[in-house]
Amino acid sequence: MKALSFRTELFTESVIREMTRLCDAAGGYNLAQGFPDFDSPAEVKAAAIAAIRQGLNQYPVTFGEPELRAAIARKAEAYNGIAAAPESEITVTCGATEAMMATLLALINPDDEIILFEPFYENYGPDSILSGATPRYVTLQPPDWSFDSGELAATFNDRTKAILINTPNNPTGKVFSRAELEQIAELCQRWGAYAVTDEIYEHILYDEAEHVSMASLPGMWHRSVTINSISKTYSVTGWRVGWAIAPDPITRQIRKAHDFLTVGAPTPFQHAAVTALGLPRSYYAGLVAHYAAAREFLVDLLLEVGFDCARPPGAYYVLADSSRLMSKFAVADDVAFSHRFLKQFGVAVVPGSSFYSRPEMGRNQVRFAFCKRWETLHGVAANLRSALTS
Ligand code: GLN
Repeated sequence: MKALSFRTELFTESVIREMTRLCDAAGGYNLAQGFPDFDSPAEVKAAAIAAIRQGLNQYPVTFGEPELRAAIARKAEAYNGIAAAPESEITVTCGATEAMMATLLALINPDDEIILFEPFYENYGPDSILSGATPRYVTLQPPDWSFDSGELAATFNDRTKAILINTPNNPTGKVFSRAELEQIAELCQRWGAYAVTDEIYEHILYDEAEHVSMASLPGMWHRSVTINSISKTYSVTGWRVGWAIAPDPITRQIRKAHDFLTVGAPTPFQHAAVTALGLPRSYYAGLVAHYAAAREFLVDLLLEVGFDCARPPGAYYVLADSSRLMSKFAVADDVAFSHRFLKQFGVAVVPGSSFYSRPEMGRNQVRFAFCKRWETLHGVAANLRSALTS
């Protein structure tokens, strides 16, 4: 028998989804996978059902139903300060996941490098491998997950094709400041590189945090791809509707990759996404109010039971330092700790090493997702308090 693909052999199973499986088998509380355990807005669900009843069940326009591309263009202009033509600069995809893959396929040639901030969302590793890019890493340093400007500047070179930025960030909750994005923008312009931004948590911001889209910065539109989805904002992670916004020449390439990868995102959910994007401002305020309260609750709980962490300014994750509890349990690393944590306390988390190219950098860290109902968060607190503070 001949060898299987080296590419796919290179990547491991998704640790986030593995932890979910173990959690389900153990009947635990899932703070591992970043999906809400509460339902999506009633009017958005009703719109999907209505679309199915109306017979909108065949292939969509490959690169996205016109009504949805128009709604995305309106939103991008109003919220992101990006003026994109729906006919030629927006592609609807199967979630932000496919948008990222199609974008890298559209940009990357053999020998190209892409820059990732580390820790990074685990999909970006396989995305790089599948597209053939060589990843280069710039470290985000706890507790505020800042980066060293010198390290960033030294990572750019002639082979740098693109830099991937996820703001607000998974797994750290960092929100890249305007000044940081301007610095990255300047380097992209100096080296002729593209910026690919995953802005899926753009509405989930706390305190004074401000979301800035790279494509809105001077000189960046024609070298930026802005990726987003309805998954997190409208709590419909299973619907798989996302998009990529990019200038015409890049969009042409993205659309070709998208067409052959998936043909299109589910038609009825694209129509429901139009309803979602039209929800009033009060909807976003309500969502963020819950996440802000959940953030306070979880961070206080983690500090109380022996983790070290800061309050994230955005997204719905806490990447906590577990060193003190690891010594208490005498476990060697984050993977052993996460398995022990699930078994003993019935709470699933993601081992920190899954967010690093060099696993040792995450060996004292675990990620908690707090996009959960109070019932779940209170259950987690009861389990941890009874075992860890007695
Ligand atoms: N983005 C979510 C997370 O990081 C879900 C990942 C997934 O399972 N696709 O947990």
